[in-house]
Amino acid sequence: MKEDLQVYNNVLELIGDTPLVKLNRITQDIDGEFFAKVEAFNPGHSTKDRIALYIIEEAERKGILKPGDTIIETTSGNTGFSIAMVSIIKGYDCILAVSSKSSLDKIDMLKTMGAKVYVCPANVSADDPRSYYQVAKRLHEEIKGSVYINQYFNELNIDAHYKTTGPEIWKQTEGKITHLIACSGTGGTISGTARFLKEQSQRFGTDLKVIGIDAYGSVLKKYHETREFDENEIYPYRIEGLGKNLIPTATDFDVIDRFIKVSDEESAHTARYIAKTEGMFVGYTSGAAFQGVKQLAKEGEFTKDSKVVIIFPDHGSRYMSKIYNDQWMLDQGFSDSENNVDAEKIEF
Ligand code: PMP
Repeated sequence: MKEDLQVYNNVLELIGDTPLVKLNRITQDIDGEFFAKVEAFNPGHSTKDRIALYIIEEAERKGILKPGDTIIETTSGNTGFSIAMVSIIKGYDCILAVSSKSSLDKIDMLKTMGAKVYVCPANVSADDPRSYYQVAKRLHEEIKGSVYINQYFNELNIDAHYKTTGPEIWKQTEGKITHLIACSGTGGTISGTARFLKEQSQRFGTDLKVIGIDAYGSVLKKYHETREFDENEIYPYRIEGLGKNLIPTATDFDVIDRFIKVSDEESAHTARYIAKTEGMFVGYTSGAAFQGVKQLAKEGEFTKDSKVVIIFPDHGSRYMSKIYNDQWMLDQGFSDSENNVDAEKIEF
């Protein structure tokens, strides 16, 4: 790359080094300073570019991947897009087993990026042969020379963020970060980022609190509190990429101070509100992350000295047929005139 001229050899050189953007209007009634780490600035428009590149390059380094090999993964969409993008540049085949909860836009995008996509039912248990985990595993066994990324159980998912997202945030906040707030799905983002930031804050004697965002219908928060897997916590919910119905080993629960849960409806409205107040068109889980901030502010978590970093994982364009579609919102019962859903139609 010729850095000074911003000329790059391929899109992969644009992964990482995403901006930290101050949130202004949406935070005006809350003490402290709030910054979004806007991962939509990655070339694949999400934080998952980081792990796709890192895990694939680690496999290359270890001699596991050879040109023409197949890369297989389970994904809610974003990881799939990133793996497909990296596969194109590096010359691999890409097969993705995705949840039927994923938006049609996402599935079409994956196909556009050259991936072969298997759509699997969302509301079956992880050990059901129809689940996307089991489908991916079976394909991996059947296809010779294939590599299964397995992001939920791959420690390299944590390392990717330990090596990139964490150091970037430490530098961008000049070591003054007091709170890291991030959604947890595989847990890779929050765990790797927090592991790096906590090491630094211990070294320099600063205070840092790490708060994970979980969904109602997911087991993560309860597991963090009790270290027990409680099946009763599991029920269907709408947000894609947040929470889990199993305990991923890509989550380091020890570097997370606490989890809070957010609802589908409030997260959707918050995402729409971020667009209207900050001019930032971000995904559903960015709404979830900021919904978490609102709940924490109500509890009195922040002071005027707080410097809070919130990870916004992906771009809003991936949710046009969901939270940014008024009819979809109404169909879910997410009506709210303040946010222009169900508002009186303006006649000309
Ligand atoms: N937001 C979105 C939109 C995602 O796709 C994911 C990944 N499942 C996350 C948040 C959570 O990130 P992680 O898997 O690193 O915990």
